Amino acid sequence: MTVRKLFQEDVYIKNWDAVITRETACDDGTAKLWLDQTAFFPEGGGQSCDLGHIGDMKVLDVQEDGQEVVHTVATDGNTPRVGDTFTCELDWDHRFDNMQRHCGEHILSGIFFDLFGGVNRGFHMGHDSMTIDISLEEDPKITEITYEMAMEAELAANKVIWSDAPVTVMRFDRRQDAEKLPLRKALAIDEDISIVCVGSPENAADCVACCGTHPSTAGQVGLIKIFKVEKYKGMFRIFFEAGRRALEACRLRHDILYKLSNRYSSSIEDFPDKLKASEDKSAQTKNKLHIMTNALIAKESEAVDAEISSTDAPVIIKRLEVFSMDDAFNMAKAYMGKTEKLLLLYAVPDTSFILVSSGTPACGKLVKEYASFYNGKGGGNDVSARAIFSNEEDAMLFADLITKHLK
Ligand SMILES: [Zn+2]
Repeated sequence: MTVRKLFQEDVYIKNWDAVITRETACDDGTAKLWLDQTAFFPEGGGQSCDLGHIGDMKVLDVQEDGQEVVHTVATDGNTPRVGDTFTCELDWDHRFDNMQRHCGEHILSGIFFDLFGGVNRGFHMGHDSMTIDISLEEDPKITEITYEMAMEAELAANKVIWSDAPVTVMRFDRRQDAEKLPLRKALAIDEDISIVCVGSPENAADCVACCGTHPSTAGQVGLIKIFKVEKYKGMFRIFFEAGRRALEACRLRHDILYKLSNRYSSSIEDFPDKLKASEDKSAQTKNKLHIMTNALIAKESEAVDAEISSTDAPVIIKRLEVFSMDDAFNMAKAYMGKTEKLLLLYAVPDTSFILVSSGTPACGKLVKEYASFYNGKGGGNDVSARAIFSNEEDAMLFADLITKHLK
């Protein structure tokens, strides 16, 4: 006895009774069940399988098994037997989500074909968005799909939804009968053919072979939103969503923009201008800071030069209150390989030293030998090195040690 596929008769069946016709218990607390009739649609065509319950056993997976359908359930202590009858319940939210997305793909693919002669050569139903890969092979004058063209297709697809065109499934036993319809793609099968038409066959928004589940009208898809277009293996990959997920994606993006524009005390419409103004101001501040830092480097260098010429000590320690390690390094450049003394430039905010010398003593070697005594890290070459500490106390102990070592 072949299973009766209720999803082919009425996609809106959510509850039904079924008798187990075959059963295999597995060791992992699951069982595989074959039923006399099922509305659980098996995984296929890029669409995930239906979920729900058989009795109180949760359906984990549904797969085609030749002409049959096999359901994997969590038995949870149940011992289903051949001949048992269970009431089955479909997870309708999951199914309707699949139906909205899948039908959205039909409508959008039909529109790309109709507007630009683009053929859908690949489909992926991902968690965050769906993609179709459109190959431009019908009209030699059209060589690319721009974002603007995608927006034109999006509007046309939503117009199909607003028209609430009927979605009909027609079944044919013979290929030549099915081929009388205005099919978007050549048939790949010869018998037991299901053709899905969005709109009337004479004026179809889409007409293609498909055995998936679809809502009865285009209006139930609700919304189609395209997010981006990317070039992909000589084709154009369209990222989009349909149905509730399209609404949720729009809502997510709107929420982000709404919160960001609030942070800038702006409306969403004025936000790009406000952001640009803020970026310009930030660039001016950065430039001003750069000029002031250079002036401060010159001033601190003067003080170092004065100390170099007034002391016999081989080591000079210079405390730089507002300099980052990078600022101290920029200051050190003028002394690298030139100064007779060993300079220890201490960047206070970073609790770190830049060491500079003529090459003797070798700065990198000093850091390598002594910094680790005080949990310091760093390194460098003969004329300059960095010594990085986690606190000022350790940094100063390092400086003392170096000073004593070089006396
Ligand atoms: Zn379909």
